[in-house]
Amino acid sequence: MAPVSPSDLSCFSRDYSEAREKFMTAARKASQHIPDIHVTSYAHPCSGPQLEPLATDTVWIGPHNAPSVLVLLSATHGVEGFSGSAAQTDFLSHPDALPEAVAVLIIHAINPHGFAWLRRVTEDGVDLNRNWLDFSLPLSEHNSGYDELADAIVPPALDAVTLKLCDAHLSTYRTAHGDIAYEKAVSAGQFKHPTGLFYGGTAPTWSRLTCERIISDFKLAERQRVALIDFHTGIGPFGYGEPICDHPPGSTGVKLARQWYGDLVTEPALGTSISVAKFGLSDYGWQALIGEPLVFIALEFGTYPFDEMMQALRADHWLHAQSQIDWQTDQTQKIKQAIRKHFYPATTDWQSMVLERSRQCITQALAGCGATLSDNFDL
Ligand SMILES: [Zn+2]
Repeated sequence: MAPVSPSDLSCFSRDYSEAREKFMTAARKASQHIPDIHVTSYAHPCSGPQLEPLATDTVWIGPHNAPSVLVLLSATHGVEGFSGSAAQTDFLSHPDALPEAVAVLIIHAINPHGFAWLRRVTEDGVDLNRNWLDFSLPLSEHNSGYDELADAIVPPALDAVTLKLCDAHLSTYRTAHGDIAYEKAVSAGQFKHPTGLFYGGTAPTWSRLTCERIISDFKLAERQRVALIDFHTGIGPFGYGEPICDHPPGSTGVKLARQWYGDLVTEPALGTSISVAKFGLSDYGWQALIGEPLVFIALEFGTYPFDEMMQALRADHWLHAQSQIDWQTDQTQKIKQAIRKHFYPATTDWQSMVLERSRQCITQALAGCGATLSDNFDL
């Protein structure tokens, strides 16, 4: 694994369009050296704030019938896509030979609308990472804590007096119930407040349906092993990449994750992660479709404190709860700069840490995918 040089940081971008262009250019260049490379794009029905087209772009590298596939997934949470996109473009820019019988599927911007509009959520305000429920059944997930806090989480206005009252309501709850219960109430997911934070929706989003289509198009459910790295940002220590595994405790998937990525792997279900346990995660959806062969981690890069994330998200959700959004106004731009900074601190130290850790985890995942199945099950 080569050390990160300053010129490597050019894989980071200022916005979705630039990220897409860099990714597609890197794919074109890689195709000059690699014979087994195929690009497939899935057009999104909406456009970005500058009327730019949106799409989820995929690159497949390696044999079509590879028994093991490593999937690199970016922008599940739109605005968090800067790090994952950079890691993907960096990977394409330094093509090494893959282990035998391994292919790589890169999914660039699974939530392109959120990436372009600098939001965590999709075009319908849904958190894709809370959207993987079976909506044909009555919802069993309840979050009464969010219900209690909903009007304070997304304030009716952003003036200082209103915010102070809302903050006091949140503080009272936090003091009464503790930090973990507060974080669960706020971020575990909710299904009743469409303009609220961490809203799981009432039906599969375009991004989820596109994921399902990609799983089908690339026959991922037929593989013997599918490793997935889902890139996220926004919680944890600045620049640190925490591999979070939401497979059931003690399952093969979590044992393999620990074998491949080491003891740094954390499990929200056991309370060892910076992340609390949540409803409707992508991990659960992929598990339901792929089963035992799946080894899914969310690679979460820390930025700034949780409370700062909350401020940025609350303002963004307030903005999008208004009937119309003028992208050019000072207020919109101020809110968007704040959310972008929280999820993408575009400083060279943060970028270097992200790239180095991404390369490390991708190398570990490829080695895990390349190991024979008997090696993998020697747990
Ligand atoms: Zn995220």
